[in-house]
Amino acid sequence: MTDQLRAKFENLELNAGLGKISAFISMSLGLLGIFGALCFLFPSVLTMPELRPVYSKHYDIFYLSLIIGIVLSVIFGAFSSIVRQNRYGFYGLCLALIAAILGCGLIKAPTLPSLPFYAGIDYFILTLVILALIFIPLEGFFAKNTDQKILRVGWVTDMKYFMFSHVGIQLFTFLTVMPIQYWITHLPNNPIVPYVQAQPIWLQFIELLIVVDFVVYWLHRAMHEVDFLWRFHAIHHSTEYMDWLASSRLHVVEVLMTRFLATLPIFLLGFHTSAVFAYLIFISFHAIFIHSNVRFRFPYLRWLIATPEFHHWHHSSEKPAIDKNYAAFIPLYDVIFKSVYMPNHLASVYGTVGYKIPNSFIKQFTWPFKKYIKKLRNRFDHSSKP
Ligand SMILES: [Zn+2]
Repeated sequence: MTDQLRAKFENLELNAGLGKISAFISMSLGLLGIFGALCFLFPSVLTMPELRPVYSKHYDIFYLSLIIGIVLSVIFGAFSSIVRQNRYGFYGLCLALIAAILGCGLIKAPTLPSLPFYAGIDYFILTLVILALIFIPLEGFFAKNTDQKILRVGWVTDMKYFMFSHVGIQLFTFLTVMPIQYWITHLPNNPIVPYVQAQPIWLQFIELLIVVDFVVYWLHRAMHEVDFLWRFHAIHHSTEYMDWLASSRLHVVEVLMTRFLATLPIFLLGFHTSAVFAYLIFISFHAIFIHSNVRFRFPYLRWLIATPEFHHWHHSSEKPAIDKNYAAFIPLYDVIFKSVYMPNHLASVYGTVGYKIPNSFIKQFTWPFKKYIKKLRNRFDHSSKP
C-alpha cells in the first residue's frame, strides 16, 4: 500500500451521511467473508485443530453466518456506492463478490492433508467479530474521548497487529510454551504442585492472577527502565489514541518475552488446565478492556483491580505519569513498589515521549533494532578504515 493510500485509510473518518459508515461495514464484512470462505476451503491449514470438531458439528450455522455476512456486505456496499456515491462502497461490493465466489464453492479447492502447522484465520475472525460487537457499542455509548472516531489515526496498523497475533497463535504458542513444557519434563517433581492442584479451581484462578501479575509487574517495569527492552515496549506506547484495538500494538519480541515469563510460574506451580484456561480468557479480555476508550471509573474497585482509568495513566505522556502504573491487574503492586499514579482527573494525552516512532507496522518492527544496526555499521566502518 502506498503512503498516500495508507494516509487516506488512516485518516478515514466516520461521518454520517457520506456513505463512509456503510462502506466501512461493507468492506469489513467483505474481507471477513473472504477469510471465512478460505477457512471453509482450506480448513487443514487455516483453522485451529481444537475448533475443527465444533465447525463440523455446527457446519450449517457457520456456513449460514458466512452467507449472511456476504449478503450484508452487498447491501451496505450497494447503499454506499449507489445511494451515497461513495467509492469505498464499491470496493466493499468487490470484496463481497470475491467472498461469494469463494464461499459458494464455485472454485473447487484441492484437498490438502492435515498438516502439523496451521494459521488461526478462524481464530482471528471469531475474536474480531466478538470483540467488535462488544467494544464498538461500549465505546460508542460510554466514550471517554467522545471526539475519537472508530477509524482513528493508526487503526490500520493496530488491525495488522491484531491479525498477526491471532493468525500466528500456533507460532507464538510453539515458541513460548513448548520450550517450557520440554524443560519441565526434565526437572525433578515440584513438591508444591500437589498442594496447588488440591485446591478448588476458583482459588487457583485467584492465585494465578496474583502470581502471574507479580511476574508481569517486574517484567513491565524492566521494559520501562532498561533501554534495550524499552525500545520494544515503546512501540506499544506509541499509540496516541486509546481504544480496544490499541491493546494489540505489541512488538513481537515483547509478546514472546511476556508470554514466556508469564507461562513459567503457571507450569512450575502446576495449575489445573481449567483454571489456566479461565485465567487466560479473563486476562486477555481484561487487557483489552483497560485500553478501551471508556469513561467508567469504578470508585470502589479502582484500587483493587486495574481499570481503564489506571491503565490510561500508564499510557499518558504527561510528565508525572511517566513510568507509573505497571501492574496489569493488581494496582496494589504499584502501591507497594511505589510506582502508582492516580490523580482525581482522567488522562487525556498519550504516546511515547522522547522518540519519534514510525507509523507503519513493518517500520515499527525494525525500529527497536535500528540503534544497534547503526552501532554495528559504525564499528564496521571504523575497523575497515586503513
Ligand atoms: Zn508500559
